[in-house]
Amino acid sequence: MKYPQSAYLHIPFCHRRCFYCDFPVVPLGDKANGENGPGSSSINSYLKLLHKEIKLAPKGISLSTIYIGGGTPSLLSPNQISKLLNVLRDHFGFKYGAEITLEIDPASFDEVSLEGFLDAGINRLSLGAQSFDDCVLKKLGRRHTFKDLSDACYLIGASFSKGKLLSWSLDLIQNLPGQELISWKDQIERAVSFNPPHLSIYDLSIEKGTVFEKRQRRGELFLPNDEVSADISKMTSKMLKSAGFSRYEISNYALPGHASRHNRVYWSASDWWGFGQGATSCLSGKRLSRPRTRETYKNWIESVESKGYDQFFKSFDQKPSFSFDDMIIVGLRRREGIDLKELLKSLGWNDIRIDQNLNELRFKLKDQFDIGLIKQIGYRFYLTDPDGMDLSNQIIVEILLWWESLNDFSVA
Ligand code: SF4
Repeated sequence: MKYPQSAYLHIPFCHRRCFYCDFPVVPLGDKANGENGPGSSSINSYLKLLHKEIKLAPKGISLSTIYIGGGTPSLLSPNQISKLLNVLRDHFGFKYGAEITLEIDPASFDEVSLEGFLDAGINRLSLGAQSFDDCVLKKLGRRHTFKDLSDACYLIGASFSKGKLLSWSLDLIQNLPGQELISWKDQIERAVSFNPPHLSIYDLSIEKGTVFEKRQRRGELFLPNDEVSADISKMTSKMLKSAGFSRYEISNYALPGHASRHNRVYWSASDWWGFGQGATSCLSGKRLSRPRTRETYKNWIESVESKGYDQFFKSFDQKPSFSFDDMIIVGLRRREGIDLKELLKSLGWNDIRIDQNLNELRFKLKDQFDIGLIKQIGYRFYLTDPDGMDLSNQIIVEILLWWESLNDFSVA
């Protein structure tokens, strides 16, 4: 087995559940605090399980990217983050220059804890801004305010300019209820004014069981219509391009040298370790999600412990590895797209068969090629920015339909 060079650690705790979120999180209340405050016993007992899970894994090879996500991992104290990284480092080792990212919530840290996180080894931060508008933040159910957010940006920006941080990212959500072109323009301008070298901009999606879904069912959620939504997406791309950002993935923009190395692992269909309640790992192209509740996660760790990791790995062999569908869905999200010849060759296809079938695919996608949604260099197919990326679902569906229409697609 080829061991991964990346690890994702999941911290499932949040202060409260945001109105749009369906992640497997454990809300601990607004006053929750990692080491001593409310919720700390729950956090400490979870961390014991997480340390145990890491220690049960085979030693593998040293890691080049580590991502601590959630949830709200910045709810943990610097000491807890430091211990967690030490367990991981002792077990796998970290490569020189490893990228170590922590997701951070604007209202959950101050100058002292930020210093503590950096001393613990964190060298990249991903700040969950979501919006610079207090009214919108309230409607999203977020705990932070614009003041918290701007203070956070200044603190992080100062660490970055002193060279204490390698990079940082700011996350925003677009196409929120009531959003208009003019208000969104203001959001992007504010974001750029804080000089983050990386921006992640996600479309709001309405998930089952969330407060937003209930509001939508009651007709109380006024989302931008398709036309406004398309204009918002196009404006995002245009404004960030003129500010020097490159859209290296559908939802991610970076200044030169600041693309997230960890996220590229997911989009290039490489393997990664996943640790923690609800976390997914990908080993030998096979994905495994851990149980989403504390009790079931604990039982799962006990069963891995009693059967041994070898048994656990055997269960991976019974699952199919990356499918063509997975590779297309993740590959086309990237600016560079995907080399379809290489992909089909990896399935055992010969050159003649590849050329015949790709000619047919090009014919099926003629309209999308003609209006410039998709382009091709050699055998590499990629979506254009912004038109193709904004209609990515439509194009991906066409390609998957072509794939399904082949009678004998899986083997040579
Ligand atoms: S902070 Fe993030 S993970 Fe936690 S509830 Fe809100 S959106 Fe979900």
